[in-house]
Amino acid sequence: MDRVLSYLTLNTRQFHELTLRMRVVLSQLPLSLTVLLILVGGALFHRDLFSSGSFLLGAGLQAVLLALCVVVPWDRLPHASFLVIPLLDFIPIGLMRHGAGTMITGVGLLAVFPVIWLAASGLFPRAALAVGFLGSLAIVWAPVFGTDAAVTSQSLTQSILLPFIMLAIGVTIRVMTASMMAQQQVVEEKDQALQMLLEESARRERLLETVVNSVDIGLIAVDETGRPMLTNRKLEQFRALAGGTRNTAEGDLRIFQHDGQSVMPEARRPTRRAAEGQVFSDYLLWWGERPDQRVLSTSSRLMTNQAGAREGSVVTFNDVTELVTALNAKDEFVATVSHELRTPLTAIRGYLELLTGMPDLQPEVASGLEVVSRNSERLHKLVVDLLSTAEGTPEITPVPTDFSELVLQRVASARERSTNPLMRFEDRTEPGLLALCDAPRIGQVLDNLLSNAVKYSPDGGRVTVSAAEVDGEVECSVTDQGSGMSAEELKGVFSKFFRTSAARNAAIPGVGLGLAISKAIVERHGGTISCRSVEGEGSTFTFRLPLARADQDQQLQPQQL
Ligand code: ADP
Repeated sequence: MDRVLSYLTLNTRQFHELTLRMRVVLSQLPLSLTVLLILVGGALFHRDLFSSGSFLLGAGLQAVLLALCVVVPWDRLPHASFLVIPLLDFIPIGLMRHGAGTMITGVGLLAVFPVIWLAASGLFPRAALAVGFLGSLAIVWAPVFGTDAAVTSQSLTQSILLPFIMLAIGVTIRVMTASMMAQQQVVEEKDQALQMLLEESARRERLLETVVNSVDIGLIAVDETGRPMLTNRKLEQFRALAGGTRNTAEGDLRIFQHDGQSVMPEARRPTRRAAEGQVFSDYLLWWGERPDQRVLSTSSRLMTNQAGAREGSVVTFNDVTELVTALNAKDEFVATVSHELRTPLTAIRGYLELLTGMPDLQPEVASGLEVVSRNSERLHKLVVDLLSTAEGTPEITPVPTDFSELVLQRVASARERSTNPLMRFEDRTEPGLLALCDAPRIGQVLDNLLSNAVKYSPDGGRVTVSAAEVDGEVECSVTDQGSGMSAEELKGVFSKFFRTSAARNAAIPGVGLGLAISKAIVERHGGTISCRSVEGEGSTFTFRLPLARADQDQQLQPQQL
């Protein structure tokens, strides 16, 4: 009932939601109600009306048609069969118009109801207009032809306006209906597209949620202000480990630095750094307290909008505790083994020195001792390298140092050591360069680069060492014309235990620690080291150190290495 009332108050949206039978009844109802009004009016003021047989027949037919609207199961009949009702409506209207005669004028105007119904149905538009026009014409011409009176042009045109008015109304309604229908279609199409978009977006959201929650990595997406937009279950587990819950601020979590005990300052925590727009990878943090403490490797990437502006960041948390533990165990093992090797080796070297210094040694004994001595030296270097790698960060004491002199000494020593007669050395170092460095340690770096240049130039060639002041730093390069490396090999050249396959195949002695140690030493000075290399053409290793000012309150380091 509410729906019917709603329709009667012109809420057309709901009209479409009614059943077909209800819609047919409601479309017929205005005409039936108007007829009822005429009957009431006639009963009050024109009782003669009820003596007219055709009027009563018309009113009766009208009632029958309304009854048909109610009882016929329209939805089970062929489509559009309900249009028979407005079509038949012209008959009772014609009968009532004829019966009303001059008692009530304008009854013919009732034809407007079937005309509107036909035109507004949107079905068979042209036929509907024609039927409306012809039906109205029939209403006005039927009495002219139905009597014995002669048909004159006057009698034919007397009420001819009615069908034309009905036609005009029909056309207007048809145009309005067509435009409404077109609009409705557009709205429906948009509605459908929107619905599909909503479904797609909901599907994507479900997919994202499933993926985000099934990965074994903690995830958080934050906006530019650091407000969380998305987190996953794994991160909640990590948060619980650090004494927090889903809503605990990152600053309140128990996160520590690499010693596992010093609290990580808030400004250096990953989400805070990400909110500031920093991009980082493999940033290690110790979460929670021992013994449940875990080591998390965190990385951050920026999120940008379509215009490329920063919208926030995504931070990932990966549990690398086992890896870090394994690496520490490896370093400990290397340190222990090297320590154990060093003690007997020191004794061997001491006695060797004693033996080689003995007078009157037989030549074969002397040359045997020479071989033993050379090999024990190699063994000693290896043990020292292993110890230094296991130590981690090398200890240094930087003082203003005559860098040019240092290079001169190391090149001279390399020349002396070189057993390859095809090897030439060239020192292009600017004189008087002052670097703030630990001379023995930097000497170790130069020795390593020079010995590599010789080792990896089996066919000889020139080794050039140059050093100069560049951008307020001391820059030193060691260039050779040796075997060089491929771009792929170059990527790992400063990693511990790295060796190119060429070096391994050619059985060139070495374990791949020299460059890793050199890098650690240079970086400990606040400097940098890099390498350029072309396979088959040679390599250039370049390192930079801080410049020492001449007025620095330190004594020049003697070049005693
Ligand atoms: P080692 O020389 O003891 O093997 P390094 O750490 O000094 O260890 O060098 C690592 C690897 O880098 C070497 O094994 C070699 O394959 C490559 N490499 C180093 N220097 C050069 C060079 N000047 N020319 C070509 N390859 C080199």
